Amino acid sequence: MRILIIGAVAGGTTAATQAIRNDSKAEIVIYEKDKDISYSGCSLPYYIGGLVKERKHIAPRDSEHFKKKYNVDVKVRHEVIDIDVENKNITVKNLETGEEFKDNYDELVIATGASPFVPVKEWLHKENVFTLRNVISADEIKEYILKNNPKKALLVGAGAINLELCENLQEYGIEVTVLEAQNQVMGPLDEDMALKLEEYLKEKGVIVYTGEKLSSMEGEKTAAKVITEKREIDTDMIILGMGVRPNTDLAQKAGVELGKTRAIHVNDRMQTNVPHIYAAGDCIEVYSLPHEDYVYRSLGSLANKTGRIAGKNATGEDITFKGILSTGIFKVFDMTVALVGMNEREAKGLNEKCKSHMFKMASKPSFMPGAGEMVIKMIIDEETDKILGVQIIGDDGVDKIIDIFATCMMFGAKYNKDLSGLDLAYAPPYSPSLSPVIQAGIIVEGSLGK
Ligand SMILES: Cc1cc2nc3c(=O)[nH]c(=O)nc-3n(C[C@H](O)[C@H](O)[C@H](O)COP(=O)(O)OP(=O)(O)OC[C@H]3O[C@@H](n4cnc5c(N)ncnc54)[C@H](O)[C@@H]3O)c2cc1C
Repeated sequence: MRILIIGAVAGGTTAATQAIRNDSKAEIVIYEKDKDISYSGCSLPYYIGGLVKERKHIAPRDSEHFKKKYNVDVKVRHEVIDIDVENKNITVKNLETGEEFKDNYDELVIATGASPFVPVKEWLHKENVFTLRNVISADEIKEYILKNNPKKALLVGAGAINLELCENLQEYGIEVTVLEAQNQVMGPLDEDMALKLEEYLKEKGVIVYTGEKLSSMEGEKTAAKVITEKREIDTDMIILGMGVRPNTDLAQKAGVELGKTRAIHVNDRMQTNVPHIYAAGDCIEVYSLPHEDYVYRSLGSLANKTGRIAGKNATGEDITFKGILSTGIFKVFDMTVALVGMNEREAKGLNEKCKSHMFKMASKPSFMPGAGEMVIKMIIDEETDKILGVQIIGDDGVDKIIDIFATCMMFGAKYNKDLSGLDLAYAPPYSPSLSPVIQAGIIVEGSLGK
């Protein structure tokens, strides 16, 4: 069996390694147009800031590694330019030599990922304007900072990646301004939680402007100033973090169906509508359990999971994907922000019977070193007693608490029957005697008299 894979980051390489584990005789070739493969995109902000010291730590594997360890061929600087579904072959262009050739497949996995959304392409022609997506783009940002010693940076978009970048740019003594078109930072949070985060960013010296759109940039070779509806902002460098769009042109041209999110639509086995073509990672939409609908999420955790399913099913297994809760977490200076499920806005749009509760809780007994606090917002459905979503901001223990909530939600736990009875580990260095999850269940149970 010959399996071809397009894209060699999280989705593509996971599909390849799972496929070869399942069928050690399969011939597997991954085509990748970039030169880096199987890297940790999620670590790029920390590579820029210097916490991750060396490039090889985020991109430790190369084609030789895949050949030696898995007998998988990874051809870098090779772009797939066409898929012929009738004849089951693809056309590949060697970007070094310009040569084009065809390659036949029995099964094909599309893992073409996503690209940063940039509304005005010309902005990227200026030498101090960047996006952050892959190792090359991180290298460019780092190199620009080291060479030009910028004093001010403007981050356009207040999503997780730009918020992670704040502390990493401040490491160089750069004054950071965040500009966001929506009325709040971090769109997926509810406004009350986003306000807490914005206040914290300001405490840390970040200048934050929300509800303001970038309309133009001024400057010839470099952008020295940006114009919004409300002001002009002088800057030495700009990073555009305005979201991503799935890379779907190649698939669409071949007749692969897109969903309503405009990402590739797959079933729960990662099969597209075209026989023998699977898709995984940032190029697909996924089923969201709380929304009961397909959503688009660009997450490395998800690319690994869907890549695994595509790789296994392409080699004859039959495993299915249950769906997602959109669980996410990120660090902003010493604060952690985490969320799972729907926010209150979304929940109220779908279901009038939902209610939210907010609690402030200790992460461990106050006399213990490192004890911190977290604010938890829980959104529940009063009719079914299900937990619809949770958002947490805090300085200690947030990662554990969000994962407990996510696990409870995955298995349909009810806030009033199941949370208070959870048997969770306790010792003072780790937790209060009653975990914040248990406390949340008890408080809400009491307040609603259920
Ligand atoms: C700065 C940053 C921080 C992040 N932090 C987190 C985090 O903390 N947690 C989290 O869960 N996620 C995070 N993510 C998201 C995560 O990195 C992505 O979800 C993940 O990389 C998706 O993997 P993928 O393989 O689907 O797509 P991609 O990483 O986009 O890889 C797709 C590859 O396909 C190649 N390709 C595309 N078209 C072709 C073609 N025609 N021919 C050949 N090759 C092609 C591209 O060159 C690319 O290398 C972060 C992303 C970034 C940029």
